[in-house]
Amino acid sequence: MIIYYDGKFLPEDKASVSVFDHGFLYGDGCFEGIRAYNGRIFRLKEHIDRLYDSAKTIDIKPPMTKEEMTEAICEVLRRNKLDNAYIRPIITRGKGDLGLDPRKCPKPSVIIIAVTWGAMYGDLYEKGLKAVTVSVRRNPAECMPPNVKSLNYLNNILAKIEANYKGGDEAIFFDTNGYISEGSGDNLYIVKNGEIITPPTLNNLRGVTRLVVLEIAKSLGITVREQNLGYFDLYTADELICSGTAAEVAPIVWVDGRTIGSGKPGPVFRQLAAAFGPLTKKEGYPIHGKPKKLAVK
Ligand code: PMP
Repeated sequence: MIIYYDGKFLPEDKASVSVFDHGFLYGDGCFEGIRAYNGRIFRLKEHIDRLYDSAKTIDIKPPMTKEEMTEAICEVLRRNKLDNAYIRPIITRGKGDLGLDPRKCPKPSVIIIAVTWGAMYGDLYEKGLKAVTVSVRRNPAECMPPNVKSLNYLNNILAKIEANYKGGDEAIFFDTNGYISEGSGDNLYIVKNGEIITPPTLNNLRGVTRLVVLEIAKSLGITVREQNLGYFDLYTADELICSGTAAEVAPIVWVDGRTIGSGKPGPVFRQLAAAFGPLTKKEGYPIHGKPKKLAVK
């Protein structure tokens, strides 16, 4: 496997991060998760924009332009001969000392990893996932905005640990006000009386897939509303759906012992999933377009 690391394309065993990198010491950095399908990178611009917005919020100046980032991602895929992949660009604060002060970290680092990763939930797209609500709350926006896809994913990992102990395939977070936030790694939607309702995005990550789901819903003539939801809405939904780059579009049929709707993936999920698959294959940034000159720093 070839990894991009600060301007170099290195074999995996040579791509090691300094123990003084604040990304390693403090989770000080940000990242993206992106998929490529059939030689095209799905919604690449949206992911790169979010990566740079995350970096800006935590005051990291990426050492490359968005165009250079685009080209570096394509080159990683080309060098690994991957037309279908899960891609992980990472920007860390870079090497510093053991103190917190970012001023001691003169140069951010960029790492890009790409792997083969098929359907994350295997046969659960047909059977439906079991989800559990967790006691750990999503980081509130006034502390660590969930809109920043920060390298510090401990909040999400704690939710996942709790879901694992409680026998859930996925965790459902509430925010500190008791509203539904999101899954540990995906956005949530309920379907009620034919409408899709999803929480607004202050208390969760503004999913790129979420926007795709909402676009598809609109094109299918399904009404979409953004509204705060509580656990009453969760348990009494006709359908529950989650979406994310890794998870894609997946049905949840059981929450905290309650069967959701019919207990089977529902018709709205089926419509969304049927449209999502073909869309991922037909659009996207071409990996094998004319390679642009890659500025090596
Ligand atoms: N929420 C969280 C916490 C996530 O980690 C992800 C995955 N990136 C999502 C939502 C879904 O976002 P996207 O559709 O952009 O992958």
